[in-house]
Amino acid sequence: MRLATRAVHAGERLAPAGWKSVTTPIYPSATYIYPDFADLDRVAAGDQPGYMYSRYAHPTGRALELAVAALEGGEEAPGEGNSGADANDAVAAVSFASGMAALHAAILAAGIQSGDAVLCSQDIYGATLALLRTIFEPLGIRLHLASFAGPERWAGLLAAARPRLVMVETISNPLLRVADLAALANAVHAAGARLLVDSSFTTPLLCRPLELGADFVVHSATKFLAGHGDVLGGLALARAADAAALELQRKLAGAALGPFEAWLVLRGLKTLPLRLERQCRTALALAGFLSSHPAVERVHYPGLACHPDHAVAHRLFPSGLYGGILAFELRGAGRGEVFRFLDALRIVLPATSLGDVQSLALYPASSSHRDLSPRQRRDIGIGDNLVRLSCGIEAVEDLREDLDQALARSGAAAT
Ligand code: PLP
Repeated sequence: MRLATRAVHAGERLAPAGWKSVTTPIYPSATYIYPDFADLDRVAAGDQPGYMYSRYAHPTGRALELAVAALEGGEEAPGEGNSGADANDAVAAVSFASGMAALHAAILAAGIQSGDAVLCSQDIYGATLALLRTIFEPLGIRLHLASFAGPERWAGLLAAARPRLVMVETISNPLLRVADLAALANAVHAAGARLLVDSSFTTPLLCRPLELGADFVVHSATKFLAGHGDVLGGLALARAADAAALELQRKLAGAALGPFEAWLVLRGLKTLPLRLERQCRTALALAGFLSSHPAVERVHYPGLACHPDHAVAHRLFPSGLYGGILAFELRGAGRGEVFRFLDALRIVLPATSLGDVQSLALYPASSSHRDLSPRQRRDIGIGDNLVRLSCGIEAVEDLREDLDQALARSGAAAT
């Protein structure tokens, strides 16, 4: 071989000689080869497991997908030899380049077509709403927005909208409302529709919507799953037939998660139980602290007995864990006081996103719900004095002191 050829091929494709790496390596290869071309042909036909081209699937992404499916699938975790269950019932995960890419793919995999209606929770993540309005409405999808508070209203909502797809979040953003998913899934299926649940706020550790009857679950892996604020990723999960439709969306639209990003999320997953439990306990402690703070008018946190969905959350989530996010209203405040509060924070970072090891504070009126008019925001309960807090894993005492000093500097009326 000439040097130019050696530069390309030398040292590559070493076969492991009896060793195994402890953690899944990052496989950056875009394409794969086999001992015989006939193997590649069988892989392409789907008759033999394997990889062909990274947009379709790759080993690092596959490891992440198995891990998330094992968490989300609960008792039916794949690869654990307990497959007495029908293979069609097995939960499968498909990874995407971001949470938005996963949502986009799941909406299409649910089979919506021009003329169909989507019934969506009115306080869903702002970009999800923008996705439905900007991409799907012009394609002939009719969008209906509604509050899912109050199960007695569901039958009427479903009868009026006649949706093919219903979309909700496990814990809504930023008012932290919690719908009874099992009852909702029953109502949605009775109306002939399918249920897509964004579980980014809860992760499979707090809530597993597929077990409760949902058809699709989506995670922004950017949030709690990865947890360190250093990667974008998404996962969509469903049972076999729907999972095949999700894979097709990824293969053809190409919003695949890269191997390095998949590896970061997989690494984050290992500490998810430790991080999330700490974040939930911190959120409960801070919700209690803020509830009795004179500069705070109201706290929204499903772990508080006064929250309208406390009983549902208590039933749905493991005991004592109500999520790592809370929201609160500064007393008598508007944008000026809220900006002063955010600028005065020393540990909590005034940044968008959530679920990271760092505590993050966000102003919904100028970020997630910026595109709504003040009146529209007020109508769905998002005042100009509302702040959302994503609790990190710092010492809770430091966070409490930080909030306290920033509230004192905010000028919010402490009466
Ligand atoms: N779903 C929820 C509830 C979110 O908060 C976000 C992002 O903030 C997304 C989906 C979108 O995720 P990503 O930013 O990874 O695309």
